[in-house]
Parts: sequence; structure tokens; C-alpha cells
Amino acid sequence: MTFQMTIHGKSVSSERAIDVVNPATGEVFETAPDCSKEQLDEAVASAQEAFKSWKGTPIEERQAAVRKAADILAEHASELSRLFTREQGRPVDMAYSEIEGSATWMKAVAEMSPPVEVAEDSDQQFVETRYLPLGVICAISPWNFPVNLSIWKIAPALVAGNTVVLKPSPFTPLCTLRIGELFRDAFPKGVLNVISGGDDLGPMMTSHPGFAKISFTGSSATGKKVMESASKDLKRVTLELGGNDAAIVMPDVDLDEVAEKIFFGAFFNTAQICVATKRLYVHHSIYDDLRDRLAAIATATKVGDGAEQGTTLGPIQNKGQFERVMNLLDDAKQTGLTLLTGSEIPDNGGYFVPVTIVDNPPEDSRVVQEEAFGPILPMLKFDQIEDVIDRANDSEYGLAGAVWSKDTDKAMEIARQIETGTVWINQNLMLRPDTPFGGHKHSGLGVENGMEGLLEYMQPQTVYLSRA
Ligand code: NAD
Repeated sequence: MTFQMTIHGKSVSSERAIDVVNPATGEVFETAPDCSKEQLDEAVASAQEAFKSWKGTPIEERQAAVRKAADILAEHASELSRLFTREQGRPVDMAYSEIEGSATWMKAVAEMSPPVEVAEDSDQQFVETRYLPLGVICAISPWNFPVNLSIWKIAPALVAGNTVVLKPSPFTPLCTLRIGELFRDAFPKGVLNVISGGDDLGPMMTSHPGFAKISFTGSSATGKKVMESASKDLKRVTLELGGNDAAIVMPDVDLDEVAEKIFFGAFFNTAQICVATKRLYVHHSIYDDLRDRLAAIATATKVGDGAEQGTTLGPIQNKGQFERVMNLLDDAKQTGLTLLTGSEIPDNGGYFVPVTIVDNPPEDSRVVQEEAFGPILPMLKFDQIEDVIDRANDSEYGLAGAVWSKDTDKAMEIARQIETGTVWINQNLMLRPDTPFGGHKHSGLGVENGMEGLLEYMQPQTVYLSRA
């Protein structure tokens, strides 16, 4: 199969190509187009042209088109999940869940309509606020949840009446390119363009004057560059960025019930989740017991090629990230931290890192302070709840957090003091299409999902009609 871009409803190849590597082997297995500046201009021009009619298409028709696309996605979930595993690394059944879950998500977004708010309806005047689409959206997604995080952008953007140029990460372009091809049957030409390319393409997009808004998911460092680039012509931005999420485990938990949930809240997708638990604060009275249980789960968890039966955790998705995670691990070793290492990893050139629990490192160690985005979890002891809330909040990030306790009133009280956009109590990683998701501080700007997320793709317009 050759993978092509979708520009103006057509297949478009490019002169140059980028290599796509299977992270479970470290070998190139496919190529993807490397979009040129001229092709980007064509995609933006096509989206601008399509916007003229899409914005005036009744919202019910736009919602129906998004529902149709969702059905197409669900029908192709098996085919896409095998491709997903080869380019992203996650086991096939979990890849399938992401794709099927994205289809369900699209359908939920297709149920949403922006409100019409009447501020006054009197003999004097009629005042109403409506929400209008913005124009062409520049959508840029990362490699950790390539399908889901692309759908989070295109579904609300299109329901709102915008048109889109979507760019996946150069590390995981294939599923998204294929989805662009499949969705040609759901949307008029130019409404959804999907392009791919190397490191130059992102900055080329964010500085392109044809976009009205950038919706970006990726690292905080790149997010700052995106915002700088957007400032030149005041493009709207939504930034979903990094996190260094803390979980607080209170002394009253039932470890039989929660240990496995805490483990997968930290390590699912090989810990490459913006909202994974990345700092685990545990009350000293249960610390040793939970540490030993997590270490035992790590030993029993198979790390390997996601295409192989029985694999629970795949490789790190790309070489650069693998090297960053290994550097953090080396730093932990060199500074004398105590490491508990899980099951064996394949030795085949794939980007595998063993599941590693760091036993009570100092608060200022790199492994606590930095977003690892890989399977290295620092576990830290605490005595006083006030102190641990301060430690949890003492981060430049503020994406999500978790509290584990049987005393749900107390847990709610703690949750309200955590400075993050999402807090879970006695669960993890749960997100819904009808509630806003976003980060405090360096974790982002604006939100995705929920009515607030839909309205970020729209501009309020207030009309004052005099009846005097
Ligand atoms: P990244 O910032 O390296 O890349 C993200 C995307 O931006 C890619 O498509 C990339 O090609 C593009 N890009 C790179 N440089 C660019 C530039 N100068 N201008 C415009 N685009 C550019 O991030 P990543 O390594 O792909 O993803 C991992 C990071 O994403 C982690 O920090 C993680 O926490 C974060 N993340 C956040 C969320 C969230 O919703 N808050 C979700 C997933 C991942």
C-alpha cells in the first residue's frame, strides 16, 4: 500500500519522502510523503475555498458527515489497528481500542451544537449572541495517541463549520494518512486535508497566513514555539502540552484493589501519555507494601513487540524519545538512586526500555522534576497531606493528577487543591467528549472537548437589533 496525502479530496504524493520506522525493530518499513511548501499552499487554498460553502452548510448536515466518517473509521478499525501497531508500537488490541474509541468519540461530538444566547428580548431591543466558525484550522498532533488526538481536533472543528489541514507526527503519519483517504467519502473536497512531512512542515504551517487557528498537541517546548509563530498574525491557539502528573495514595486504600490500577495509570502505552502518573506520592505507612506490589506487577508484565500475542507494553515510539528516556535512566543510575526493574526486554534493535520504579528518590532529582514520557516511575514517601499537596503542585506543569483514598469526601477536598485541569479519584486516564480537558501553567492554553472545546473553534458574534 502506498500512503498519500489528501489535498482537495485527491490523493497527492510528493517528490520527497520520509521514512517510517517500526519501533519494535528499529527498522524502516514504509515511507510517507514529505509535503512541499507549494503543496501546503494548495491544501490551505483548498480549505479556504471549501470553507465558503461548509460554513453555510446546516449544522445538521455537518454533524451527519462527521457521523458518517465515524462509521467509516469503525469499519476499518481492524485494518488500521495492525498498521497502528507497526508505526506506533502499542499492542494490536489496545490500538484497536483507540481507533474504535475515536469513532465513538466522533459520534458524541456530532451531537453537540453551539448555543444561541439571547441577552435581551424586549420592546427596546433584541440582543443575541451566536457562534461562528473561524476559517481554516491548522491541526498538529503527536505520536503517542495519533488517531485519538487527531480526531479530538477534526471532529469539533468540522462540526463548528471550519475546514481543516491536519498534520500527524512524522513518527506516526500512516494511520492518519489512511484516515484522510477513507474520509474522502464523508466530506466535500477541501473540507479535510491531511498532509505529512518532516521537521520543517510544522513551523511552515504555524507561520502560514492562511490559517485562522492552530490546534496543537505536543510538548511544552514546541507549544511555546507554536504560540510565538501564531502571534505574528494573531492566529487563535489551543495548546495541549506536557505534564508531570502527581498521584497521591492515602493510607486507607485497599492495595489489593488499587495496585494494578495505579500501575497501569503510570505505565499504559509504555508511559507515553500526557496524563499518565509520573510522580507517585505514597503515605509512608503503606509505601513498602505498594512498592513491592508494583515491582511484582512490573516483573509479570510482558514488554515486547505489540504485534506479538501476550505483549502488554510495547517499545518507546521513536529513537529520539528512547534516547531521552535512557539518558534519564542513566542519570538515575549514576546518581545512586535505587531502581526496581521489571521483566526482560527484547534485545533486537527495537526501542525497548524496562519498566522501572525509582525507590523514593530526592524531590529535586531529574527523574522527579522532568516529564519522563517513558516507563520510569518515581515513588516518593509522604507523611502530611498539606506537605504532599504542595509537592504535587510544585511543578511547572498542571495537566492532571489523581487521589487514591476510601474517604471520598477527603479525596474531593484534596482534588480541589491540585492545580491541574483534570483530577481523578480512585481511577485513572478516564476522559469524556462532553467535559473540557486542558492544562494549567506550562501544560497548555485553552481546552479541548466539551462545549468549551467546541467553542474554541468559533468566534462569538453579538447582534443588537433596535426595536425602539
Ligand atoms: P512534539 O512537540 O515534538 O511534536 C508534536 C507535533 O508538533 C508533531 O506533529 C511535530 O511534527 C510538530 N512540531 C515539531 N516542531 C514543531 C514546530 N516548531 N512548529 C510546529 N509544529 C512542530 O511532541 P511529541 O514528542 O510528538 O509528543 C510528546 C509530547 O506531547 C509530550 O510532552 C506529551 O506530554 C505531550 N502531549 C500532550 C497531550 C495533551 O493533550 N496535553 C497529549 C499527548 C501528548
